[in-house]
Amino acid sequence: MVYDQIEVANTIINKMNSSGYSVTNTRRRIIAEILRNQKIFTSEELTKALPNLGRATIYRTLKILNEIGSICKLNISEENNFYTVSLSDHHHHTICKKCNEIKEINLISVEKSIRQLDKKIDGDIISHNLDIFIVCTKCS
Ligand SMILES: [Zn+2]
Ligand SMILES: [Zn+2]
Ligand SMILES: [Zn+2]
Repeated sequence: MVYDQIEVANTIINKMNSSGYSVTNTRRRIIAEILRNQKIFTSEELTKALPNLGRATIYRTLKILNEIGSICKLNISEENNFYTVSLSDHHHHTICKKCNEIKEINLISVEKSIRQLDKKIDGDIISHNLDIFIVCTKCS
């Protein structure tokens, strides 16, 4: 996904603020590092890129960013948690199996089906997760 780093950084910082989290310089540095590559990332990569920051600090910040919806956790690896920046409200992803490029996608009919499913399920649906794996046009 290609995006304006400053614009997205400001959006994330505002969201963090309005969710009651303090935006420390450390957190700003982590956000800047996440946005720098415009690629999927792991906490290990951030730890390497920001050696002065503790691992726990990075984990905690990622947890907050995930909670406020500014990053998405991707289920693409058994060993590592990969994340991507979130640019919009509720969405799904297409993920290229070859180059790992992520795009956000809205699945209106899926949302509708899930709402209908709610009546058939013995309990309340609290969230759902659906990513679509592709070979993108650049890779095929
Ligand atoms: Zn996302
Ligand atoms: Zn690709
Ligand atoms: Zn959905």
